Amino acid sequence: MSAPGEVPLIRLRGVTKVYGEGALAFQALKGVNLDIAQGDFVAIMGPSGSGKSTAMNTLGCLDRPTTGEYLFKGVHVESLSRDERARLRRRYFGFVFQGFNLLARTSAQENVELPLLYRGESAAVRHAAAARALAAVGLKGWEHHTPAELSGGQQQRVAIARAIVTEPDVLLADEPTGNLDTQRSHEIMELLWHLNADQGITVLMVTHEPDMAQYARRIVRFVDGVVDSDAPNPSPAGLRSGTADAPVAPAPAHAGGA
Ligand code: ADP
Repeated sequence: MSAPGEVPLIRLRGVTKVYGEGALAFQALKGVNLDIAQGDFVAIMGPSGSGKSTAMNTLGCLDRPTTGEYLFKGVHVESLSRDERARLRRRYFGFVFQGFNLLARTSAQENVELPLLYRGESAAVRHAAAARALAAVGLKGWEHHTPAELSGGQQQRVAIARAIVTEPDVLLADEPTGNLDTQRSHEIMELLWHLNADQGITVLMVTHEPDMAQYARRIVRFVDGVVDSDAPNPSPAGLRSGTADAPVAPAPAHAGGA
């Protein structure tokens, strides 16, 4: 949490979101208050329909609150134009999704370079940054493989590399382990843990799985469009498993196969 008087990285105050109009209007968020400090790792939980995705879309500057305030680094996001929000998003946020969302016939390297291409970076800068990001997620040696040649866990690592290649302050992950088996899920969570603990990236993650939420420093539970509970996790799994000093991820012994 932030020190008293200090503006946190993220502050939501009385945030509401109404979809539709008139008789069909539906209030998905009913007054959300949330402070998130730089370097936090927050698991967002709650039943289906409780407003988690709506809150994530708001936090990621993809959508605007209907009423209320969203302060990011002290900037009032709710008053920004669509283009200004897009610039903020590209500068400060990385996104990871349940379904990986990689370009199918495109190598891991090119997938990871994409956000830098949008930024207009030179080929040399893109190459070097993507190679670094892929190494950071344990995929050195896999740069030229397409998603079809990679396991689900490896595809999610590529997606995480793509999300961190721009050196974002915040990583937003929407059920990042939803398509993975238990072992791969824990490996992905270890990776997110290290990105948070070692690189100081603030991680906000929606998950339905209590085992995965245990990697977070803090667990926020949504019910019916409001924050129902918000509690620190006294013993995050990344610390408990004693892996906090391990490298981010092992490099592959050989390229090929998964
Ligand atoms: P969760 O992620 O917790 O499942 P959501 O934020 O997706 O919850 O949805 C909260 C509520 O808002 C749900 O009842 C959903 O049907 C409704 N909702 C979400 N998106 C829209 C939309 N674009 N138009 C209308 N209703 C929506």
